[in-house]
Amino acid sequence: MQAWDDVEHEGDDDVDAMGATTTDGRRWGARLAGVVAAAALLCTGQVISGNAAQAAECPAPIRTVLDTTPATADRTVALTFDDGPLPQNTPDVLDVLRSSGVKATFFVRGDQAAAHPDLVQRIVAEGHAIGNHTWSHPYLDRLTPAARVAEIERTTQTIVDATGTEPCFFRGPFGVHRDPAIAGLAWERGMTVVDWSLDPRDWSTPASWSPAFQQQIIDRATSPRTAHPIVILHDGGGYRQNTVAALDDVISYYASRGYTFTDPAGRAFPSGSGQGGTYVVQPGDTLGSIAAGYSATWREIYQANRATIGPNPNVIQVGQRLTIPGSGSGSGGTPAPPASGTTTYVVQPGDTLGSIASGYSATWREIYEANRATIGPDPNLIQVGQQLTIPAG
Ligand SMILES: [Zn+2]
Repeated sequence: MQAWDDVEHEGDDDVDAMGATTTDGRRWGARLAGVVAAAALLCTGQVISGNAAQAAECPAPIRTVLDTTPATADRTVALTFDDGPLPQNTPDVLDVLRSSGVKATFFVRGDQAAAHPDLVQRIVAEGHAIGNHTWSHPYLDRLTPAARVAEIERTTQTIVDATGTEPCFFRGPFGVHRDPAIAGLAWERGMTVVDWSLDPRDWSTPASWSPAFQQQIIDRATSPRTAHPIVILHDGGGYRQNTVAALDDVISYYASRGYTFTDPAGRAFPSGSGQGGTYVVQPGDTLGSIAAGYSATWREIYQANRATIGPNPNVIQVGQRLTIPGSGSGSGGTPAPPASGTTTYVVQPGDTLGSIASGYSATWREIYEANRATIGPDPNLIQVGQQLTIPAG
């Protein structure tokens, strides 16, 4: 049982900082240059929902409020991000997750999702799960039953309109979702209710670049160590570059200890991301413009959907769901491989693979793979003075 004053406060005090980007924040963005080229394709708005399998109906909801994931494997961890999507943060979070090959669950606000459907589409396209976090982030226990339903249903409809995918998870703002009168509304609509076991309090101050705060977020996101934590982080609500900066080390902590990254129900995410899937036609789309968002041609998309489009490929309907054939070319889905040539880096006190990677257009995982023989099985155990090969980016 968690004290209500210890649950998410969503950083209302942070809102003034929304949109501010510090010099350090931009520097962090630059460190991700290696994946930006790939992400840019998905940022054009010509997007997508991910695997066709995700468009299927949700599994039956688990009718208990989840504080931890069910024990579907020895060690699992569910990373969750609330209150987005926001252009200031969500793309950065997605870039880190992509470079790590890790999937997470995004509890989106309906009003934010309606304002940024391209980001909702990118979340789903890259294989992450979507949760419903109400339309306007109210205290649900202060609303009439009808108003509660409206908050939930309007949000689900917005997610479906953008992605063709129904949310399978629900989280009430401020953790107000334990009352059966509220949880039941989610269960009746096919959603599992998700609380959390680790709150790194990334919504609290400072709302500016702070390595010390980043370390606090890392420490709180990884302790106390349990076998099946659900971690609550935020990509919305204000300045979240400290969360972005902490994420690599949080992921590294769990990955290096054999945890499987799952959805909050303990289910593995479908493998692969962004290659093929389902696309919901938006106003102004043509098969050509849709194809531009994938490594596919308009003709391939037309052939895959001929039965529903009919004889004229120029006549597609807004809201129509198109199957996007998968592609073997790989372009647009994965970062370009590193160029030839390498650099050597000598480990300094305080370094982590993540901090070293930030100086190059490389991920910690790429550096780890290139030095696995000398580092050993635990990527957190590097030695001062050790020479690491940095793959060229
Ligand atoms: Zn929230």
